[in-house]
Amino acid sequence: MQRLLACHQHQPLAYQLQIGTVKITIIAESVGPLLRWQELYPDATEQSMASSNTSAHRNLYDAHSGRLVIAIQAFLIESDGIRLLVDTCVGDCKQRARPEFNHAGFGWLDRLHAAGVSVHDVDFVLATHLHVDHVGCNTYFEDGRWRPTFPGARYLFVKEELDFWTSDSAKSPLERTGDYIGDSIFPIFEAGQADIIEHGHVINSSIRLIPLPGHTPGHVGVCIESEGRRAVISGDLFHTLLQCENPDWSTRFCVDPQQSRQSRRAFFEEHADTETTIIPAHFPYPCAGSIHRNGGSGYEFRFLSPEKVSNIF
Ligand SMILES: [Zn+2]
Repeated sequence: MQRLLACHQHQPLAYQLQIGTVKITIIAESVGPLLRWQELYPDATEQSMASSNTSAHRNLYDAHSGRLVIAIQAFLIESDGIRLLVDTCVGDCKQRARPEFNHAGFGWLDRLHAAGVSVHDVDFVLATHLHVDHVGCNTYFEDGRWRPTFPGARYLFVKEELDFWTSDSAKSPLERTGDYIGDSIFPIFEAGQADIIEHGHVINSSIRLIPLPGHTPGHVGVCIESEGRRAVISGDLFHTLLQCENPDWSTRFCVDPQQSRQSRRAFFEEHADTETTIIPAHFPYPCAGSIHRNGGSGYEFRFLSPEKVSNIF
């Protein structure tokens, strides 16, 4: 088994922000140097990396290993008595293609409990998309089979996304080794806890989904609006600051790189220089921030100041 990802730079692993009356708790599973930029971005060059602001940030790029710092984390949204868990990380004890994920022991569920949340407290579980690092803690292994981790939850699946990943066209060897659909998605259906939803699904008066297709066909963001404030959990629309500086860079993991580019540009254009708090799936602490035009063809992401975030541990 490969060495587990180290927690990076002693950053907080569980912390909260408030959007009007809605509370968002971010609970990290792992934070650390994970992907080489060449592995993630086919359009990146040595020159573009050298001139990027990202390379200068120790919290975002590990120059020693040449790897980008990636946080893998879940977002618990509490609103009007509803608890919605968005993205459930990689999970433990699962057979995976990537050595860092294979038969891992991250202990994310212990961290959830330490943050004061029981698995019985979660009402809804949603993945922004069905990639391996967003669905792992959907299930856990007990008595010889995979069972839903959250016994009282309805698990919401966006129809386009589910159709894509359960069709034959999705069976790329890279993605399917270890069959994460088989151990993290199908058991939810077998347990009768799955609901199939549209990409514009409304959870309640403060929370709705917005389609952000391209990275995957049914990729969605989660829009939170309360008391005149707005935040968007933007999933894997962009993985690092490099894609703010270079909005046309899609990743090697994007199913449709062109559509991903269009969704990202339209999203940045809509929210640039506004009060919207953007919460990308893989940004390390404090994760959230705002997007601003940088005077050229790109954008600048400004992280929230630490006093706007409440650290739990
Ligand atoms: Zn991801």
